[in-house]
Amino acid sequence: MSIYLKQIEQLVALQRVDSELISLKEELENAPKEVEELEANYGQYRERKDQILEKIDYLQSQQKRLDSEISDDDLKIKKSKNKLMMASNTKEYHAMMREMDNIEKLNRMREEERMALVEELERQRAALEEVESESSSLKEELDEKQSTLDQRVEQVEARLVELEKQRKAAGQHVPGPVLGRYEFIRSRLSAPVIVPVIEGVCTGCNIAIPPQGFIELQKGQQILNCPNCQRLIYWCEHFEESHQPIPGKPQVAARKQPEAAEEAE
Ligand SMILES: [Zn+2]
Repeated sequence: MSIYLKQIEQLVALQRVDSELISLKEELENAPKEVEELEANYGQYRERKDQILEKIDYLQSQQKRLDSEISDDDLKIKKSKNKLMMASNTKEYHAMMREMDNIEKLNRMREEERMALVEELERQRAALEEVESESSSLKEELDEKQSTLDQRVEQVEARLVELEKQRKAAGQHVPGPVLGRYEFIRSRLSAPVIVPVIEGVCTGCNIAIPPQGFIELQKGQQILNCPNCQRLIYWCEHFEESHQPIPGKPQVAARKQPEAAEEAE
């Protein structure tokens, strides 16, 4: 194999490593998002639960207050009933009766208030139960997603280390200036940087290579750029099927000027 073909082969290998690096880094960036969303959701449930607990606490203290007021006044009525027999005259008797009536009326109002409180407590307890069951199933989902994520991140990080090693090895045999061109294009265009020319067309931008350039390319002596998209190009027929990267139209990076290809379509 000529030096030219070896270099192309190594650049393609480098390209393959870089493509995987890019997609893995993207994955690492996006993977925690789902977990973060679940966490925020779970946080809202906890907040809601705290609110309900606070409400229940308040209702219970109100209920306690009413209970003691009711029993205190019940006791008062009992005492008054005993004293009623000792009333010295009708006037005093009626005054005592009136006072008892008032206390009884007050206690009936308290009983009504207490009933409403008990109902509200029941509602809040049901709401609490619901929030607890929903938040616990959410927590389960969250824990599961978190552990899956942790595993995946570990895998991806190990693979990244491996790829960085491969990247160094692949770059080692490519001459500096060529590698420099590769890196230059990589920093300006989205992957791939090196693409095959199939049936005279650059698979990076889908534009035909001008005849003169195509003749040069077929000679296989120096590494050429596509005159349109600037990607490094090679003639597909210089390689066996298995050596070729998967052709596909790459997306244009935002930093780059619009390609003529985009406009021509
Ligand atoms: Zn091109």
